[in-house]
Amino acid sequence: MMYFAAVGFVLGYIIITEKESVGAMFFDSHLHTRFSADSEMTAPEALTAANKLGLGLVFTEHIDFSYPGELDFVFSPEEYWAAYEPLRGDYLRLGVELGLVPGETEKARQFLARAPFDEVIGSIHLVDGRDLYDPSGYKGREQKEMYASYLRLMAKMVRENPYIDVLGHIDYIARYAPYERSELCYEDYPQEVDEVFRTLIETDTVLEINTRRFNDAGAVKNLRVLYQRYQKMGGEYITIGSDAHQSEAIGAHFSLAKEMAESCGLTPITFQARQKTKIF
Ligand SMILES: [Zn+2]
Ligand SMILES: [Zn+2]
Repeated sequence: MMYFAAVGFVLGYIIITEKESVGAMFFDSHLHTRFSADSEMTAPEALTAANKLGLGLVFTEHIDFSYPGELDFVFSPEEYWAAYEPLRGDYLRLGVELGLVPGETEKARQFLARAPFDEVIGSIHLVDGRDLYDPSGYKGREQKEMYASYLRLMAKMVRENPYIDVLGHIDYIARYAPYERSELCYEDYPQEVDEVFRTLIETDTVLEINTRRFNDAGAVKNLRVLYQRYQKMGGEYITIGSDAHQSEAIGAHFSLAKEMAESCGLTPITFQARQKTKIF
């Protein structure tokens, strides 16, 4: 009940609920609140939305030490803990989404040592120092070469940062790449994708189902092939995350994500104190 009491405190009223069965709770394991430079969502907004959906949450705030744009994607773990630790409990866990960049492993380790994070997502946001969000990063680059570089960097970064719990949004590049057929298709990059999955399995890192692109049937179709391959190579677990930056996006497309996990033979989990926790 701690979470509800805490939310009630923040909102100025007490939410009464019968929800005691934490074991039956499903988690959205990837979302951003105002500690991320690109989100203004508050914790009470997120928790109220999640409560309505019967979901637990893991806040995964952005930490990108070398972000090239104007926004500052660095936050203080101490301030994060001071603000949210009173809300942390069975329904809320506190994590981080770490942008993986060559040469920053030691910096990342030092950052992570400053708070007892529940979950660490590692993500590739930058290739050659440019955010994949930025169209100029694709200029003069063939899609095949660009996507293969992205996947090779991903495998290398997971290998060099084996302490991460989860690999975030494998299809991040397909959100923004300005090519005619921007989908990340397994059949175009089988060796590179296999190397990512092999590295995940060898380092005990869990792949994420990120539902951000689940409103696109083509994306879902291609992602299903990737998750099937992950399972075939020995992957057992999956986290599911909306990557919400606004409360309306929390838990988006989770029915489809659950169906995908099940049909691919993958078990959905979340993390608590960096340990895998089963969810239902
Ligand atoms: Zn991300
Ligand atoms: Zn994110």
